[in-house]
Amino acid sequence: MKPDFSKGLLPVVLQHWTKRTVLMLGYMNEEAFEKTQQDGVVWFFSRSKDRLWKKGESSGNVQHVKSMALDCDDDTLLVQVEPAGPTCHLGTESCFGEVTPEPLQGLETTVANRAKAEDESSYTRYLLKAGIDKIIKKFGEESFEVAIAAKNRDRGEVVNETADLLYHLTVLLHEQGVSLREVEDVLHARHAVKNNFKGERKDIDKW
Ligand code: AMP
Ligand code: ZN
Ligand code: ZN
Ligand code: ZN
Repeated sequence: MKPDFSKGLLPVVLQHWTKRTVLMLGYMNEEAFEKTQQDGVVWFFSRSKDRLWKKGESSGNVQHVKSMALDCDDDTLLVQVEPAGPTCHLGTESCFGEVTPEPLQGLETTVANRAKAEDESSYTRYLLKAGIDKIIKKFGEESFEVAIAAKNRDRGEVVNETADLLYHLTVLLHEQGVSLREVEDVLHARHAVKNNFKGERKDIDKW
């Protein structure tokens, strides 16, 4: 598959390859498309600069290409990228504003902050001070509670107990020095990014 440049500039959506968030929109001419194919980082044709523009040429925030696909009628390109830094020149991750963290990432951050804080009333801090035996005991109890709720077909309890379980799992991972990112990377390696699309996907050959 190759885009059709006979109608002028090609709109290009940059999407974060793991978070799936929209990062920015730019345009490519044929040369920018070819340079992107060669380099593995995104090149645009800048309408304001009126020239080829390697995204990150001065900021260093290049966008590494993970996949590329055309839309339904071949006139828009979706590029999934791993950004080297904030994609927007204003310093935000996305040109459409700051990206709110996924709930589990937010939980990971909260646990890490509680671990650092001197707040004696923090349950997270209590768990971490108590140590791994206490943490795995709680983790085991909560997983059992999820199992019981499932057995009872109590949907509300399944939701609540799963929240408890995920919280305790987050504390356990923190104690082990394992980040969610590492777990995510394993999942991604098992399930390629392209599989996120249903139906026919018009992949650009190389990617
Ligand atoms: P960079 O390509 O990141 O080195 O940025 C070079 C220049 O391009 C910046 O000073 C901005 O004027 C512009 N620029 C960079 N990133 C964006 C963006 N995401 N959207 C619009 N303009 C940008
Ligand atoms: Zn289209
Ligand atoms: Zn921007
Ligand atoms: Zn529980």
